[in-house]
Amino acid sequence: MASKTVDGYTWEPATGVVKGLKTDAVVKPAQSLGSKDNIYDAVVIGAGYAGLAAARDLALAGTFWSSSYSGRSVLLLEARDRIGGRTYTVNKDGFLYEMGGTWVTHHMGYLFREMQRYGMDRDLVTTGSPDMHKGYYTMDVPGAKPRTLSHEEAGAMQAKAWDVFVNVDGQYGRTLCPLPHAQLDNIMVDRETVEKWDQFSCQDRFDQIQDQLTTEEQGLLVSLLLHISGGDMQTSSLWDMIRSHALLMHSSDNFTDVWLRYKLRAGQTELAKRMFHDAKARGIDYSFSSPVQSISQGAEKDGEITVATHGEGAFRARRVISTIPLNVLKDIAFSPPLSKKRQEAIDIGHVNHMTKIHADVRNPELERWNGMRFPGLLLYGYGDGRLPNGNVHLVAFGADEREHFVPEKNPELAVESFNKLHPMDIQRLIFHNWSTDVYAKGGPAWWRPGYMSKYQDELQSRHGNIFFASADWAHGWRAAIDGALEQGSLAAQSVDGELGPSRPSAAVESKL
Ligand SMILES: Cc1cc2nc3c(=O)[nH]c(=O)nc-3n(C[C@H](O)[C@H](O)[C@H](O)COP(=O)(O)OP(=O)(O)OC[C@H]3O[C@@H](n4cnc5c(N)ncnc54)[C@H](O)[C@@H]3O)c2cc1C
Repeated sequence: MASKTVDGYTWEPATGVVKGLKTDAVVKPAQSLGSKDNIYDAVVIGAGYAGLAAARDLALAGTFWSSSYSGRSVLLLEARDRIGGRTYTVNKDGFLYEMGGTWVTHHMGYLFREMQRYGMDRDLVTTGSPDMHKGYYTMDVPGAKPRTLSHEEAGAMQAKAWDVFVNVDGQYGRTLCPLPHAQLDNIMVDRETVEKWDQFSCQDRFDQIQDQLTTEEQGLLVSLLLHISGGDMQTSSLWDMIRSHALLMHSSDNFTDVWLRYKLRAGQTELAKRMFHDAKARGIDYSFSSPVQSISQGAEKDGEITVATHGEGAFRARRVISTIPLNVLKDIAFSPPLSKKRQEAIDIGHVNHMTKIHADVRNPELERWNGMRFPGLLLYGYGDGRLPNGNVHLVAFGADEREHFVPEKNPELAVESFNKLHPMDIQRLIFHNWSTDVYAKGGPAWWRPGYMSKYQDELQSRHGNIFFASADWAHGWRAAIDGALEQGSLAAQSVDGELGPSRPSAAVESKL
C-alpha cells in the first residue's frame, strides 16, 4: 500500500497545488539501527540507485563464495523519507508516474543486470501507444508557420538535425569517443584531442552548422538539445552530446530505442525496493529522514570516520561511500577539508535544471500526439498512455527556466505552457521540482564546457577513507540510472577490497 512522501506536487483545478505524492518508495518504519557503539564497516550516504547498489553489494560481499561469511556491516543514511533519490514512481489512482529516471534499455549494462537479477528484464511497457503512427506531431518554431506532421516526418527531421550536430569528425564521433565508458585516457584517442573538443559548448557547435539546417530543423534541434541538457546553449557542453551519441552506438537510428522507448511495467520504485529489501535481508541498518551534515575522519591513515546527521546523532565507520549529488555536496562540512580542486568543481556544479511535468487530460486525440514548441517553458510533450478513468497521460519537458517558472508556485504557467504546446483540457498535473529540491538541486548532471577535462578525475577520486559515487560523474552513462549503479558498485568493490576478510557469520561463530 503506497504511503505519502513529502516530495513532489499535485495540482488540480479544485484543490490547487498540494505537496506530497503517493509512492511505494516510502520506508516505514524509517529506522532500523543497532547499538550506537557500532563501528560499521561502511556508512553509505544516500538511498538513490548509487547508494542502494553500494549498500546491497557490501552487505552481500563474500557471501557468494562462502556461507561462512555474512557480508559487511553497513548503515544506509538517507535525508528523504524514501528510497530512489532522483528516480521514483508515483502511484496515483491506479496509474504509475515516473518522476525522474524513467527509460531503460539492455544497452545499459549495470541496469540490465539489476533488472535480470530481480526478474524485471522482460516485464516492460513502451512509451506512447502501440498505434502511434495513427497520431500526429505538432511543431512551432520561430520563423516558420506552426504545423502538423506525421511522426515519421518529424522523426526524420530530428534525426537529420541531430546527425549534422554530432557529426563533428565526419564519422559521427567514432574517432573521438569510440568507447564512451572510457572518454578520457581512451586507448584509441589521445587525451589532448578529447580535452580540445571538451572546451566547446552546444552554442559553439550550433553556430558552425546552423546554415546546413532549415529554420524548422534549427528550432527542433535547439529545443532537443536544451531538453536533454536542461541548461542553456552556452553552458551545456558539446562533449556530453558526443558522449550521448556514442552511447547510441553512434547512430541516430537508435535514438528512440535506447533512450525513450522502454519502461519498467512495475515502475522504477519496484526495482529500487527489490534492491533495498535484498540489502535489508542481509542485515543492513538504515535511517531515513536523516540528512547528513558533516563527515570527519581521524588523522591516521586507517582513521575512523564520524558521520553526523540532523536528528539521529553521529555514526562511526571504517569507510564512507557518499552518493550525495554534485549540486548538494557544498552543503556538507568535510574534515579535513576537501581538496581545492574538488571544492572548486562542487562550487561550479552542473547546469541541468530541467522541468518534467505529467498532465492528465481529457483529450483522447492526444494519446498518439507528440509535439514541440520553441521557445517555451515546456519544449516537448509526449502522449504516454491511458489512465484507468479514460483520461490521457502526457509528459512534458522544459529546460532551465528557474527565473520565470517555479511550477509549485505558478501552476497556471504550467497549464498555459501545456496549452501552448497543444490546446488541451487539463484535469491534473503531477510533478517534482528537482531544482527547488534541497537534496538534488538540479536534474541529471549535465556538465559545462571544459568541466570533464578539469574535474572528472578529481570527482571520481577518494578523499582519505571517503569514496564518492554518483551518476553525476559516472564513466559511461553519466546522468543516468546506469551511471548511478556503476558508481555504487565500483565504490562497494573498492571498499570491500581494502577492508580485509569479511565477518564470519553468526552460525560459524557459534560452532567455534
Ligand atoms: C527528471 C529526470 C529524468 C530522468 N530520466 C532518466 C531516464 O529516463 N533514464 C535514466 O537512466 N536516467 C534518467 N534520469 C537520471 C537518473 O534518474 C539519475 O541520474 C540517477 O537516479 C541518480 O542516481 P544517484 O544515486 O547517483 O543520485 P540520487 O538518486 O540523487 O541519490 C542520491 C541520494 O542522496 C540523498 N541525499 C542528498 N543529500 C543528502 C544528505 N545530506 N544526507 C543524506 N542523504 C542525502 C538524496 O536524497 C538521494 O536520495 C533522470 C533524472 C531526472 C531528474
